[in-house]
Amino acid sequence: MPDAMPLPGVGEELKQAKEIEDAEKYSFMATVTKAPKKQIQFADDMQEFTKFPTKTGRRSLSRSISQSSTDSYSSAASYTDSSDDEVSPREKQQTNSKGSSNFCVKNIKQAEFGRREIEIAEQDMSALISLRKRAQGEKPLAGAKIVGCTHITAQTAVLIETLCALGAQCRWSACNIYSTQNEVAAALAEAGVAVFAWKGESEDDFWWCIDRCVNMDGWQANMILDDGGDLTHWVYKKYPNVFKKIRGIVEESVTGVHRLYQLSKAGKLCVPAMNVNDSVTKQKFDNLYCCRESILDGLKRTTDVMFGGKQVVVCGYGEVGKGCCAALKALGAIVYITEIDPICALQACMDGFRVVKLNEVIRQVDVVITCTGNKNVVTREHLDRMKNSCIVCNMGHSNTEIDVTSLRTPELTWERVRSQVDHVIWPDGKRVVLLAEGRLLNLSCSTVPTFVLSITATTQALALIELYNAPEGRYKQDVYLLPKKMDEYVASLHLPSFDAHLTELTDDQAKYLGLNKNGPFKPNYYRY
Ligand code: NAD
Repeated sequence: MPDAMPLPGVGEELKQAKEIEDAEKYSFMATVTKAPKKQIQFADDMQEFTKFPTKTGRRSLSRSISQSSTDSYSSAASYTDSSDDEVSPREKQQTNSKGSSNFCVKNIKQAEFGRREIEIAEQDMSALISLRKRAQGEKPLAGAKIVGCTHITAQTAVLIETLCALGAQCRWSACNIYSTQNEVAAALAEAGVAVFAWKGESEDDFWWCIDRCVNMDGWQANMILDDGGDLTHWVYKKYPNVFKKIRGIVEESVTGVHRLYQLSKAGKLCVPAMNVNDSVTKQKFDNLYCCRESILDGLKRTTDVMFGGKQVVVCGYGEVGKGCCAALKALGAIVYITEIDPICALQACMDGFRVVKLNEVIRQVDVVITCTGNKNVVTREHLDRMKNSCIVCNMGHSNTEIDVTSLRTPELTWERVRSQVDHVIWPDGKRVVLLAEGRLLNLSCSTVPTFVLSITATTQALALIELYNAPEGRYKQDVYLLPKKMDEYVASLHLPSFDAHLTELTDDQAKYLGLNKNGPFKPNYYRY
């Protein structure tokens, strides 16, 4: 097997995982492929944690995230029992039907409703279900004790229950204080998962929940599944000894991965970590297709806008921007692109879009969408020059892209016209329609397609299996990408949903291309 090698062009610290030539050794993998085809104060640490971006802006496996606990979910799936809203779950004594109180959720009585939500999500997450079925014979995660911190939604519940079916014990908290579906958390608790999460946690609750997951007498985690890096950071700060038993960290988010590379660079990463964010099956699907499917939904639900003939400027033509533009173009919108990168700009040109500077079109456009992952892309000056009723929103990770702070000045009036919709009114009566206060539009105002989340969740599950089962020495204390063969495997698990029939290489063709008939089919540097 070749040694870990840097992924060309992505930076020296980005390491490509070793090839898994013997991926089939996980017989469960091979078979499935062949099948159809009270109050804790952490005062000193809190200061440090506040340096991190607020969790309200993070990308999720979430159906819908409200930025405020008092806002309603846009998803029909939401359910709140206002009768117990005043009482903190931390003050309540709750037990599930089996008498266990090893959890902390809003209201365990919501479990039945949450179970239905999970069952609906399962319909579109068949790859995880097929992994589960295989696990009836084999338990590739037997003995794994996974501590997780992700959005707690119907889709992540399917992932968590799959990990349990594969043999793992799980303790789970939420990576976002607003994104937990309370009924889903209740269903997980009823099923025996030690879940500590509810929608509308305070910052203190947030760390308390994470702490309850990590700090448990007689139970010590040996795997971490994180989304955003807060859990990992907590273990580093409060329980560094836990890393003696941890076999690996699996991280989904851009932010969390960034932190892992920083740790690695500083020589402080003490276990192997898997960067799921940059897996092809995450980046090229979640970022692109998830946004292609949800941008229109988010805009429609909030504004009832008609897209045909509307002039829209999309800032950033990366994966997210490409997805947004494809959807907008299909509905007849006239789309302009802004880009800093000549390659992405050229792609936009070739795809038939006009590449412009924002200043050139800001007076005429009806909608402005940011997808750059950058800051101050839309400034107060731009906002001043927009026409009446211009809609402004963000699809990027954090709420830094639109300078919303600059709009909080005495001369401008804010009018909340709908949940997540503000009219910002200038002295001359001009209104700008600001969505979700500049936070991720789709995750704040619409739902996200379950199927795409299935692809990400399957990638996370396989990353856990790979790290947990890897022989000593395969992975060092560094950040790795999932081996390509596993990316291909994740994709293959999702093909039956489309009744897609793969063409098999003939021996002659395989020889001609220098490929193994069973993959991997592309070199690591292939960009898809
Ligand atoms: P990407 O790097 O592929 O694309 C970002 C693009 O923005 C790049 O091409 C870059 O050149 C361009 N850019 C940077 N600064 C710019 C500026 N000032 N003006 C114009 N263009 C600029 O990243 P991506 O995968 O498209 O993700 C973009 C953001 O969306 C990230 O913050 C990511 O975390 C987030 N994201 C959101 C969702 C969602 O569901 N809404 C899903 C995945 C990722």
